Amino acid sequence: MKISMLHGAGGEVMGELLGRLLSNLTRTNAGGIGLEAMDDGAVIPFAGEQLVFTTDSHIVRPLFFPGGDIGRLSICGTVNDLAMMGGKPLAISCGMVIGEGFEYETLERIVRSMDEALAEVDASLVAGDTKVMERGALDGIVINTSGIGRARTVVRDCGLQEGDRIIVNGTLGDHGFAILAQREGFDFGEQIRSDVAPLWGLVELALETGEIHAMKDPTRGGFASAINEMARKSGRRIVIQEKALPIRRSVQSAAAMLGIDPLEVANEGKVIMGVPPQDAESVLSALRSHRYGRDAAIIGTVTRGSGVIMDTRIGGERFIEPPMGDPVPRVC
Ligand code: MG
Repeated sequence: MKISMLHGAGGEVMGELLGRLLSNLTRTNAGGIGLEAMDDGAVIPFAGEQLVFTTDSHIVRPLFFPGGDIGRLSICGTVNDLAMMGGKPLAISCGMVIGEGFEYETLERIVRSMDEALAEVDASLVAGDTKVMERGALDGIVINTSGIGRARTVVRDCGLQEGDRIIVNGTLGDHGFAILAQREGFDFGEQIRSDVAPLWGLVELALETGEIHAMKDPTRGGFASAINEMARKSGRRIVIQEKALPIRRSVQSAAAMLGIDPLEVANEGKVIMGVPPQDAESVLSALRSHRYGRDAAIIGTVTRGSGVIMDTRIGGERFIEPPMGDPVPRVC
């Protein structure tokens, strides 16, 4: 087997690859939640604390896009995976692999953007590494970030219970379509901006407001991939109301024009939460009071069974299938 683009696209094909690789590892758990859980991050109990640890590499093209850039993305990717576990981000490391000939000024713009995202969540970049590869060996720049955080309450992606309401903090598909439009020079009328944002402040507010049974960020593979993973790992069925799904009109028309499902493309500033019914309205209000949650909505309910079903606008039902990959490559 040779590695293909699909192996890095966040869907079922990547899941199979990781499952096969994982079977070669015997040491995947440091006493808490380990790699075998395939959650957003690991949890390591240490000195009475729950440390959260995660890593994320960034290869997005173009490097600068409406709403963000690879610098902001590389901080948000790691901060959000920590946040999805209930972890307050503390310290981040950054490994940069740069192609020979890369402009210094561009590098400086990227680093400044990283700093702005760090400031939003009061985290720091405390360790780094820089390597340069000879001309032609690398397309521009690749950035890896790792991060540690501390969780008071650890939240898994597998904790959904019957009756839970499914909440998202805003419109779906913005990042994937912003990248696609910029890369291909498509004009969808109104400019689509990436949602890339560091979500710890929003998640912290939600955790202070009510109970959260499960959390996941719908990045590569989009909402369709993340919601199926949550249903499968929780051993429950999720029923989604199509009319409740927040999707921008511009994203909807771009999706229709290109035949791409907005539920299968990446988001970089979104969280899916499973919240018990008695807390759903207060958590929703808390999310809506935050700048990254203004379009938050309750979009579905957890029931007995398996799979993800969508009650459609026209009164039918269909499965939301886990996608093979992300229809837009190199989004993060
Ligand atoms: Mg994640």
